[in-house]
Amino acid sequence: MKTAVIIGSGFSGMMFCRMLLDKNWKVIVVDKSKIVGGGVRTFWHGGHPFTYGPRHFIGPEENQAAFDYLNKVVPMRHLEKMNYSYQANEDYFASYPIHLDDVKNFEDGKEIIEEINNLPKETKSSNFEEYWTGRVGTKLYERFNKHYNLKAWQLEDNRSMDFGFEATVKRKPLETGSRYEFSEGYINAYPLAKNGYNDFFEFALNGSELVLGNGLKNIDLDKKTVYLEDGAKISGDLVVNTISPDILLDNCYGELAYVGRDFYKIVLPNENVLPKDVYFIYYPNLGEQQTRVTEFKKFTLHESKNSLITLEVPSMRNKLYPTMIKAEVEKAEKYINELPEGIISVGRMGTYRYVDIDDIIMQGLEFKKNI
Ligand SMILES: Cc1cc2nc3c(=O)[nH]c(=O)nc-3n(C[C@H](O)[C@H](O)[C@H](O)COP(=O)(O)OP(=O)(O)OC[C@H]3O[C@@H](n4cnc5c(N)ncnc54)[C@H](O)[C@@H]3O)c2cc1C
Repeated sequence: MKTAVIIGSGFSGMMFCRMLLDKNWKVIVVDKSKIVGGGVRTFWHGGHPFTYGPRHFIGPEENQAAFDYLNKVVPMRHLEKMNYSYQANEDYFASYPIHLDDVKNFEDGKEIIEEINNLPKETKSSNFEEYWTGRVGTKLYERFNKHYNLKAWQLEDNRSMDFGFEATVKRKPLETGSRYEFSEGYINAYPLAKNGYNDFFEFALNGSELVLGNGLKNIDLDKKTVYLEDGAKISGDLVVNTISPDILLDNCYGELAYVGRDFYKIVLPNENVLPKDVYFIYYPNLGEQQTRVTEFKKFTLHESKNSLITLEVPSMRNKLYPTMIKAEVEKAEKYINELPEGIISVGRMGTYRYVDIDDIIMQGLEFKKNI
């Protein structure tokens, strides 16, 4: 029987674990945390279930196979979801994605529509700023995207975001008609169970050997041997890495840049805080620290006379988002390309790409075909 060692028990570690177990591998999963699940784990505060960040399933219809796979293990509910963006200059909550009906209500609505009508039909963009100004013009970019992006990615200049930024945009530039997010072409869903994805962890890890609270300290790549923080070592025929690949090569090309988030949990004495079907509010104005407020009841359908919201504030204290800066992406590729046969790097940090839950399931299903 062949042995695989998986570094990290987040969604990608679990998905790859299940795929290998299905193919009769012995699988050892190690995580520096004492609990499994990484970013998608549901926790409770005052009895209110929540995750760090919303973590709903949003995938294009071509990733239906990912939805079907997950839905069999963790039955899902389709979301009828809206988002707001607070426009401080007019004290107005606009829909996000940007909606033409809101634009018409803005003080400069006429100029905005004129600007949009004069945009070139085809534009090539080499960075985030060019991409958005080319799609919606400078006025809407300033209102909805400019400061939001500078804050969310802790940038000085949005032109420095010059790789893969399209992945952050799963929406049309300017919506008309329904204000519901992804009314067409996307699957937008959340687990029905109050504990969110947590039952998936048991399913995925069932049959594996788990080493928790004892992370990777270093690795002998050629021998496929993982050394843990407590000095133990584990060797395998395959190592599946889901953490930042610079760690595997002792940061020899420099540490990869990431942006993190601080999450603030606040319970308010109202049964509902945000209007019906509004799950998030984005804050794109200068002088605001938070990027987003989420009302978790909307996802979890938790019943209480109170409601839990979280405030997300960009931070450099943890590493959650790989950047979309070409020089960093190329550095990550250098690390990944140096991994010898028998060591693969997957998931969000492992690939240093903006991948979501649906992409990770698709990666796992594809991997299984080739084991
Ligand atoms: C705030 C936020 C909100 C998001 N919202 C959504 C969403 O709504 N929908 C969606 O589809 N996607 C969302 N995502 C993305 C999605 O959740 C991630 O892509 C996915 O969870 C990544 O899983 P992972 O296993 O690759 O990484 P992680 O979940 O980060 O897991 C990595 C694991 O590795 C462990 N680890 C770290 N260092 C070591 C070490 N040295 N040794 C051993 N183990 C270690 C960690 O403890 C962790 O358990 C969001 C991401 C963020 C940051």
